[in-house]
Amino acid sequence: MKHEYCSVCRDEVVWWALIVNVAQMTYKGLLGMMTGSAALIADAMHSGADVVASSVTMASLKISNKPADESHPYGYGNIQFISSSIVGLILIIGAIYLIYQSSMSIINGDISTPSVVAVLGAAVSALTNELMYRYQSCVGTENNSPAIMANAWDNRSDAISSLAVLVGIVIAVMGFPMADNLAAIAVGLLVIRIGVELNTEAISGLMDSSIGGG
Ligand SMILES: [Zn+2]
Repeated sequence: MKHEYCSVCRDEVVWWALIVNVAQMTYKGLLGMMTGSAALIADAMHSGADVVASSVTMASLKISNKPADESHPYGYGNIQFISSSIVGLILIIGAIYLIYQSSMSIINGDISTPSVVAVLGAAVSALTNELMYRYQSCVGTENNSPAIMANAWDNRSDAISSLAVLVGIVIAVMGFPMADNLAAIAVGLLVIRIGVELNTEAISGLMDSSIGGG
């Protein structure tokens, strides 16, 4: 460890990641609705999916320590697997709805150009995610933590996702409004992937606990 506060960062980093994603989900969702940018709304959904995924990870670290009792013969893990599976399904349905809406707008040709303010929203998001990547990879490297490094890489891919949204909105504002909907569809597919991952993890977790007997 380079500095004595590296271990302080290690204890704080997951909370920062969570808080920053909640903030991003909120402001991008509101700004997306106000500016009429489907891509920004999709990116807000992506941040929301990351909030869910990281709280599931945090909860599973805590819950897996709890022993099984009479009403939970397989331990507390199953409740968490079932709830993450439900949330995963909600994400998938939400993303499909968003993709459907954006596709219909393109097909029907009723696309309105998002306000130029949306560009700023996407730029702030890309920058924030890149900074979160750098912060987390510093903490992960200094503390030798693969889990923190994995979170860091997720923020790097979030930065790329926001960059794609930024490009889509800029092209839309320049006179090709369809680009905003295309970016929304691309980010919607990313959200579906996160939802599917939550479900495969939940299913394999449930299998493990019923075969292993908790
Ligand atoms: Zn992400």
